[in-house]
Amino acid sequence: MAVRTRWTVQHPCSHAVEHDLSGRPADKRAGFARWLATKNCTDCWKAARDTDSPSKEEWLAAKRAQEQQAAVEWAEKFDMPPMEGPDKALDWGVRSRHQLVAAAHNRAGGRGDLGRGGLGGGGGEGAGHHAGRMVDRPAGRRGL
Ligand SMILES: [Zn+2]
Repeated sequence: MAVRTRWTVQHPCSHAVEHDLSGRPADKRAGFARWLATKNCTDCWKAARDTDSPSKEEWLAAKRAQEQQAAVEWAEKFDMPPMEGPDKALDWGVRSRHQLVAAAHNRAGGRGDLGRGGLGGGGGEGAGHHAGRMVDRPAGRRGL
């Protein structure tokens, strides 16, 4: 039997829409379809969203972009393997992984056990550059 990739979801807005969930992991599709069934269909959702105040939407978009940026930077910092998938799922995956691992890391207690000792957060990189210059200068003088 073929793996099921399409679900017909009965949305609360009274529309039944067939969703192609082939971009989702096979074991997550049924759950995702159930979640979709709690939401309005895409068209109704868009219509509702378009009537929202622009400021709220901007705020959400900015927050989302911020989370995405943080997650991507974090993934690069720790050489996390690139994730593969449709863009939407990818964004979601990168953010979720960040949150999951960060949460697990917090539970594990303390910094540094993920290796590299780079968990200083925002200031880490700048401080690193600074330290680099501090080391370079005396070395250069000695060389001359
Ligand atoms: Zn609808």
